[in-house]
Amino acid sequence: MAGLLLLDLFLISYFYFQKKNFRIIFLDVGQGDAILIITSSGKNILIDGGPDKRIIYKLDQYIPFYKRKIDLMILTHPDPDHLNGLVEVLKRYKVDQVFYNGVKDESLIYLEFLKIIEEKKIKKEIVYSEKNFIFQEGKENVQLEILYPIRDLTGKSFKNDNEASIVLKLIFGKIKILLTGDATKSVENELISYNPAKLEAEILKVSHHGAKDATSLEFLEKIKPNYAIISVGKNRFGHPSLRVLKNLEKIGAKILRTDQLGDIIFEINNHQLRLKTKK
Ligand SMILES: [Zn+2]
Repeated sequence: MAGLLLLDLFLISYFYFQKKNFRIIFLDVGQGDAILIITSSGKNILIDGGPDKRIIYKLDQYIPFYKRKIDLMILTHPDPDHLNGLVEVLKRYKVDQVFYNGVKDESLIYLEFLKIIEEKKIKKEIVYSEKNFIFQEGKENVQLEILYPIRDLTGKSFKNDNEASIVLKLIFGKIKILLTGDATKSVENELISYNPAKLEAEILKVSHHGAKDATSLEFLEKIKPNYAIISVGKNRFGHPSLRVLKNLEKIGAKILRTDQLGDIIFEINNHQLRLKTKK
């Protein structure tokens, strides 16, 4: 009993003294994407999971072992460098809810992803534009807005799944963050003609690991980011492309790469951004 009480006291004081700043962490998972958001009230949102089990080791560094819980998991599109790690997370973590784009994809790993969600009776939702989620956080709510797909893509199949990638906007206080998954230039063009004002953001997660099929200068001019994150590892595709790096330089964005810096962490407190990195 006394032991349990001590443990309780330890946990209470841990939570009490824990930093309460909102954090968005671009995890270095090699060639792939994984973004962890920890809200000020301690909610965990995970967007994509990288290509393999490495995500578990990464999450362990930010989420205490006794709280293996993801409040919201988002799969931007079912490509292995975004999806595989999420399957590992589904196996080991308590996941409350999953958002995905609902496209048809017959890869075994995607079927496994859907099967685990079914078996564990996790709430799932196919999301598209105009959906807006607010996470109550007391004074400063976290707003998550789906910008793409513009329409419901349930059951549709794509030769290139990047054409259907979820694009998200995250707003915390005055800070706006645009997360583009692996969206292609045609997605960017649709977004520009649909609602360009919505694209503006301080932080941009550059699409498709900096590949040349995305991140046009025209798109960047609408976003006007101060920081551009490229989530990339060793690869044979030539990511990031020189053209994308040049475009980012032209608009004056500070380029931050996970292959060079490790995890890229932004802490937001009183509308101030603080940048840290961790290898
Ligand atoms: Zn990718």
